[in-house]
Amino acid sequence: MVVVMDGGATDKDVRAIVDLVQAACGEAFVSRGLTRTIVGLVGDVDIFTSLNLRSRSGVADVVRISAPYKLVSREHHPDRMTVTVGGVPIGPGTLTLIAGPCAVETAEQTLSAATMARAAGASLLRGGAFKPRTSPYAYQGLGEAGLKILADVSAETGLPVVTEVIDPASVELVAAYADMLQVGARNMQNFALLQAVGDAARPVLLKRGMSATIEEWLMAAEYIAKRGNLDLVLCERGIRTFEPATRNTLDISAVPVAQRFSHLPVIVDPSHSGGRRDLVVPLARAAIAVGADGLIIDVHPKPNLALCDGDQALAESDLRELAEIMTALPPLVGRTPTLVPGRPWPARRSAIPVPVLPR
Ligand code: PEP
Ligand code: MN
Repeated sequence: MVVVMDGGATDKDVRAIVDLVQAACGEAFVSRGLTRTIVGLVGDVDIFTSLNLRSRSGVADVVRISAPYKLVSREHHPDRMTVTVGGVPIGPGTLTLIAGPCAVETAEQTLSAATMARAAGASLLRGGAFKPRTSPYAYQGLGEAGLKILADVSAETGLPVVTEVIDPASVELVAAYADMLQVGARNMQNFALLQAVGDAARPVLLKRGMSATIEEWLMAAEYIAKRGNLDLVLCERGIRTFEPATRNTLDISAVPVAQRFSHLPVIVDPSHSGGRRDLVVPLARAAIAVGADGLIIDVHPKPNLALCDGDQALAESDLRELAEIMTALPPLVGRTPTLVPGRPWPARRSAIPVPVLPR
């Protein structure tokens, strides 16, 4: 249920609604938009109905939300939202490129990948320190040492860090180094993890589970939002279908569908979708044309030596085409403004403590 406050509602009016709802054992989430304030209610609808909230001072309307997800629905927040990560916006009107290695392997490899990413127009650095691998024998990542490398490379390049967290116990550690916490496809329904990142003071990138419906994906986002963290970005990364020619099938329609149902930004991962280097740029083109708010892409200085997902990593020689479509395509499909510009180079950051790398 959502309480829409009228234009003249005061802070006291909003507080009164929150107090009433909390007294009825419900939770109230206040969103202040440019033109109106909305209070999202979570709890027993019958009790809320009995409070007759429509008659309270400053209330314009009370709307029952029909979708099973509430806080992440467009009914709760009609305008599409921009999430800011380390000062970089992701949302309507942006085409934010997040790029970097699938996994952090060494300081040199990560710095090279970040340098390549930045030159291609990336404004955020991706890289996994904790890797959720299908095989227990596959490279599992460097753990905290990898986080330290990411922080160091971030300081060197000015690119804020997006990195995956795979269990609730390490959320605090990862949040100490990262600007954005990634919840991967395999963990989309790890509810303890969703709640833990919901408690963290970091934006979250929520990848769609490989067998999840859009509704399940939005329900997973709702778990995070319900803990009070509304800085959420959704990422379509391909789903499992009967088609073996690609690693996953990029569900391109999920982008406008999720944007229609939810106000959250939606980005696309063409690397994990296709699983093949030659498909990254074509899938990125489709993502830009369909209206994705950004892209997340694997790059590696030597893809043939990569410890993880080398087949889909772009090498330096592939990046020119990516950079070209990122700038040339958006205006052709009616999208302006286009690319989120990268930071001045070199830029040193001070937002997060940058530990000294062990040598
Ligand atoms: C990743 O981005 O490194 C990753 C593991 O992706 P996904 O969770 O989409 O498989
Ligand atoms: Mn990967």
